[in-house]
Amino acid sequence: MEDYYQLKVYSRIHKLQNNIAIGSMPPHALVIEDAPEYLSDVLRFFSSKKTIKEAEVYLSENTNLSSKEINLLLNDLMENEIIVKSNYDPNNRYSRHSLYYEMIDTNAGDAQKILAEKTVGLVGMGGIGSNVAMNLAAAGVGKLIFSDGDTIEISNLTRQYLYKENQVGQSKVESAKKQLQLLNSEIELIPVCESISGEELFDNHFSECDFVVLSADSPFFIHEWINNAALKYGFSYSNAGYIETYGAIGPLVIPGETACYECYKDKGDLYQFSDNKAELSVNLNESFQAPSYGPLNAMVSSIQANEVIRFLLGLKTKTSGKRLLINSENYKIHEEKYEKKNNCLCSDIKCKYPSVVSVSNSEKQLHEVYIEERESDSFNSILLDKTMSKLVKMNKGETKILDIGCATGEQALHFANKGAKVTAVDISNDMLKVLDKKANNINAGSVKTVLGNIESIEINDKFNYILCNNILDYLPEINNTLRKLNALLENEGTLIITIPHPIKDGGGWRKEYYNGKWNYEEFILKDYFNEGSIEKSREDKNGETVIKSIKTYHRTTETYFNSFSDAGFKIVSLLEPQPISRVSETHPILFEKCSRIPYFQVFVLKKEDRYAI
Ligand SMILES: [Zn+2]
Repeated sequence: MEDYYQLKVYSRIHKLQNNIAIGSMPPHALVIEDAPEYLSDVLRFFSSKKTIKEAEVYLSENTNLSSKEINLLLNDLMENEIIVKSNYDPNNRYSRHSLYYEMIDTNAGDAQKILAEKTVGLVGMGGIGSNVAMNLAAAGVGKLIFSDGDTIEISNLTRQYLYKENQVGQSKVESAKKQLQLLNSEIELIPVCESISGEELFDNHFSECDFVVLSADSPFFIHEWINNAALKYGFSYSNAGYIETYGAIGPLVIPGETACYECYKDKGDLYQFSDNKAELSVNLNESFQAPSYGPLNAMVSSIQANEVIRFLLGLKTKTSGKRLLINSENYKIHEEKYEKKNNCLCSDIKCKYPSVVSVSNSEKQLHEVYIEERESDSFNSILLDKTMSKLVKMNKGETKILDIGCATGEQALHFANKGAKVTAVDISNDMLKVLDKKANNINAGSVKTVLGNIESIEINDKFNYILCNNILDYLPEINNTLRKLNALLENEGTLIITIPHPIKDGGGWRKEYYNGKWNYEEFILKDYFNEGSIEKSREDKNGETVIKSIKTYHRTTETYFNSFSDAGFKIVSLLEPQPISRVSETHPILFEKCSRIPYFQVFVLKKEDRYAI
């Protein structure tokens, strides 16, 4: 069957003067400047599904384009994903959800099939459970199992929208089944009319679940029971509810991957006084009743339902190992992290689900993005090139430079052109190819490229300067590498090490999109002292995230300082480069970021005298 193509259904398209604006927000928005007259007609033509043949006929009848030009145009439209293969069916009940899945880069057809095969349990069908159930039923989750022993009370109706006045006095789960089936007749619904009395509830009813939402806080041991069952049957689960006027979502427990309840149970607010369960389980206020407010229930339920759907689809879930506390008055969100404990019940459990964050292709991606932007549109070009050029002085005789992590060689070429003999090392063949090409035009010194990483390459030479630019943060261990660099350096030589600034890597920007651009609201320093592997993203010069996850290692300045010293170096100077003001015009977003917080630390090091051989 021939493929059908169509504009992305979710993209608004406007012709504004000579421009055609497609979509409204990044990463989907696109502007075609100086668009030819016929283009808006062509786009309108693709408002509904068309074959490429139909498009060729239309274009040859309605424009003066040659058949070669028509081919090029159609290829351009496909390549830039302005038109895409379409099996969009507006009459499908999930069609609007499908558009959302497409926008978050999830195959919509697959997503709906995956959801249809999943089973979700809901323990508690009050304000949270009933609302989550409505969301999941509407979204087409194949099977819902839900338990509650209560009957509907008139005071429930402020927030348990599933139930109606004429159902007051009836069983919650039986009423829920009726209402949910009216909402979606294609899914299977299993009511369990039982209150929570022990772990058997999970054994008897929830063992087949892919995910369970717990929205009940009593009896006291409920958290232990669901956790034991989750570890036994391998299902993931999450808590959702509220604490006084705060909404609480999470932590989402994935057995074998995140912390489980046993990992963190002794850390509740009351455990600081006593871990005596008999005491902890008794509330002296016998008329205690938690406030429960409709809009807050709806907020918490919606976030929880979104987390469940994302989990089922294999997408990243914000609440994995974390609890979000939402202030219902100002919507500020506070995050609590739950760490895995060693030797916990969950330690030996293998995770049933593939890890949702994949970093495998990130290095290659990084190299591609780097090649595209390095020359003039990066923090490197704005902050480091001038700094380096000031730090490296040409000798009277020969100046030998080792450039480790040379990338596309901007610095190597700069110094070669001043007469230096540069040995340039990188792990990316693609980048070295770019450098080799440019090295043909050097008129003074020379550049020799070496493929490999600093930990394993062998170089039998000594250098006046070694440049080590943004390399150490990729290495889990740096002491051996530093000693190796010491051995490669001439006695009077200089080692220049650049690292991403530890303050920058200890936090992140909160950015919001408005006024047609990304706005950097505040930088949040989260965890400066916590060293070890981190994941960060990379943005282009417009603030678009171009790589979602790069794995590097974070160390404090003190750790770097001590490592340099241990490897036999003394620090001659330390620089934190700032952009010059002209950059604010050429690269406003890069300028905004790197003029407010430091992006690099540059250490200038010499051999400690006793190490000079
Ligand atoms: Zn655990």
